[in-house]
Amino acid sequence: MELRVLGSDGSYPRENGACSGFLVSHGEERLLLDLGCGVLPRLMALSDPARLTAVLLTHWHNDHVSDMLALRYCLQLRGARLDVYAPPEPHPLKDYLTGAEFNFLDVSLPRAVGGFSLEALKVPHPEPAYALKVSRGGRTVVYTGDAAERGGLEGFCRGADALVCDATFTLAQWKPGMPHFSAAQAAGLARDAGVGRLLLTHFQPGSDGETLVKEARAVFPASEYAAPGLTLRL
Ligand SMILES: [Zn+2]
Repeated sequence: MELRVLGSDGSYPRENGACSGFLVSHGEERLLLDLGCGVLPRLMALSDPARLTAVLLTHWHNDHVSDMLALRYCLQLRGARLDVYAPPEPHPLKDYLTGAEFNFLDVSLPRAVGGFSLEALKVPHPEPAYALKVSRGGRTVVYTGDAAERGGLEGFCRGADALVCDATFTLAQWKPGMPHFSAAQAAGLARDAGVGRLLLTHFQPGSDGETLVKEARAVFPASEYAAPGLTLRL
């Protein structure tokens, strides 16, 4: 199984950047986890979006789903249709996208997607949001999406080979009630859940990436920035 970072910017993309998008693949089977602004062209550079096995969406915030709008045209022009596993709660964007191009399914239910196993956990965030766990051949990746608090994530992440975790804020920036983790909180989760390695994501443009990584590594040394193009073979 391979995990490739397509984009990891938070809220909006930095110059020539991309918001959240992570490709999990095994052979010709590919799952795209989130499809934020700037992710579609990076996917296009790798493979035909119409040949994805499925798209999995953590939640309907714009920075995680906005390229679904362009993907719709891409599929329309090719006469293609994709399975999209999305939160079951209603959202205007989901209504807008409902049509011939997307077959919406409930992301919250455990199930097989191609040769992968998918599980989801609802996480605290202002919009209904789900952490995703994708497994195959005894290897596991967890992607938190956006999370304000740990909730049940420690058990959900237990023993994962790789954890991609919201790490938006430095220790100095984070305050109780904020909608995202700090990098140190992401690292605490990785440590307590005993994961193999941690990819820090959702860095906002202008944020202090060096401090975010440093604060995470002080808690969990196997932490690194989810740099676009970074590929893990699990
Ligand atoms: Zn969000």
